[in-house]
Amino acid sequence: MNTSPNKVTIDLSALQYNLLKIRELVGKETKIMGIVKSDAYGHGLIPVARELEKLHIDSLGVNYLSEAIKLRAEGVKTPVVILLGISTHQGAKNVADYNLTPVIFDLDSARMLSEEGRKKGRSTNVYLKVDTGMGRLGIDFRETGLFLKQLMGMKGIKIEGLFSHFSSADQEDTIFTKTQIKKFKEAISVSRKLGLEFTMNNLANSAGIIRYREAHFDLVRPGIMLYGGFPCPDFADPPPLKGLMTFCSSVAQVREVEHGTPISYGRTFYTDGPRKIAILSAGYAEGLSRSMSNKGQVLIRGQKAGIIGRICMNMIVADVTSIKGVKKGDRVCFLGKEKANRITADDMARWADTISYEVLCSIGSRNKREYIYEEEISHDS
Ligand SMILES: *Cc1c(COP(=O)(O)O)cnc(C)c1O
Repeated sequence: MNTSPNKVTIDLSALQYNLLKIRELVGKETKIMGIVKSDAYGHGLIPVARELEKLHIDSLGVNYLSEAIKLRAEGVKTPVVILLGISTHQGAKNVADYNLTPVIFDLDSARMLSEEGRKKGRSTNVYLKVDTGMGRLGIDFRETGLFLKQLMGMKGIKIEGLFSHFSSADQEDTIFTKTQIKKFKEAISVSRKLGLEFTMNNLANSAGIIRYREAHFDLVRPGIMLYGGFPCPDFADPPPLKGLMTFCSSVAQVREVEHGTPISYGRTFYTDGPRKIAILSAGYAEGLSRSMSNKGQVLIRGQKAGIIGRICMNMIVADVTSIKGVKKGDRVCFLGKEKANRITADDMARWADTISYEVLCSIGSRNKREYIYEEEISHDS
C-alpha cells in the first residue's frame, strides 16, 4: 500500500482554458503545435496528449522517436512532430510506419527518410530546422537555399515548412529576437524563390507567441503556456493563464519551540523568539528544490507560511506561528491554490533561482499524479 501523503493533481480543464487563451492570441488562421516533450513538462504525456487531441490541437511536439511511438501506441492520431529528428535507418522506418513528422537538419537523415517513404509508397512530412540565432540544432539560415535544392530532388519526403527557434524572446531587449525574425523571413523568401510555398512555417515558442505577433507565421509551438507557466519568473505582462498542477503533502508534526532554536541541517536558521513550527513530509526527493531553503513559502489552512532552515530529502520545516489551529495531518500545498492564496510554479522558480519549466518537470516526474476535470477524478496508469 502506498502510504505517501504526497500527491500531484493535474486539472485538465485548465489546459482547455490555456489553449483557448493561446487561440485568442494567435487567431483562427494560425495552427498550434502543442509541445508535450519531457512527459508534458511533468504533467503526463498520454493524458495531456489525449486531452489536446480532444481539443483539436493541430499537432503535438515531442523530443524523441520513442515518445512519438508511445503516443501512437496509445491511439493518438494527431500529427506528431519529433523535435530532435531521427538518426538511424530503423528510426526512419519507424517514422514511415507510424506516420510521424520529424524535424530534419542534415542530408543523411533526409535520404534515409526519403528511402523509407518511397518504400511505403507515401511521402513523409518533415520540417527543415533552420538556425536563426539559437545556436543549437539546425542548418545555418544562410544555407537554406542550398539545402532545399538538394531536398527538392528527393522523393518520399514532403517539406511542410521551415522551423526555427528563439533563444531569448522572453527578455526585455527585443533587438536580437527581431533579428531572428528577419533571418527567418529571409529563409522563407529564399524558399519562395525556389517555387516552394510552405504552409507550416513556424518560429514562436510561448515567449514569441505572447510578445511577437509578427513571429506567429503559419504555426506556433506553445509549451510552458499550455501548463500555465511563463518563460521566466519576472515575465512582463503575463496573460491570464491557469496552472494545471497542484502538489500537496501533509503536516507530520507541530511543535512549540523556544527562542534561539536551530532548525534543520547546518543550523542555517535560528528562531528569533518562541515559535510554532510544522514539519512537512516532502523534500527535495519529491522535487522541491533545496535552493528554496529559507526562502520559499507553503500554504497551510489557506495561509502562507515561510520555509525555515534547509530543505531535507523528505522533510521541510515551516514557521506556522501566525496560523491558527495547525495540527498533525493537515494538508500543506507547495504548489497550487488554497482558499484565496496561490503559489505558482513561477513563484517557486523565483525562490529557487530557476524557471517554471524545471519546477514542473521536477515535481511532476517524482510524484504520483491524479487527474481531475471538473471535479471528476481519474487515476494515472
Ligand atoms: C520546448 C520547445 C518549445 C516550447 O517552448 P516553450 O518556451 O515551453 O513555449 C518550442 N519549440 C521547440 C523547438 C522546443 O524545444
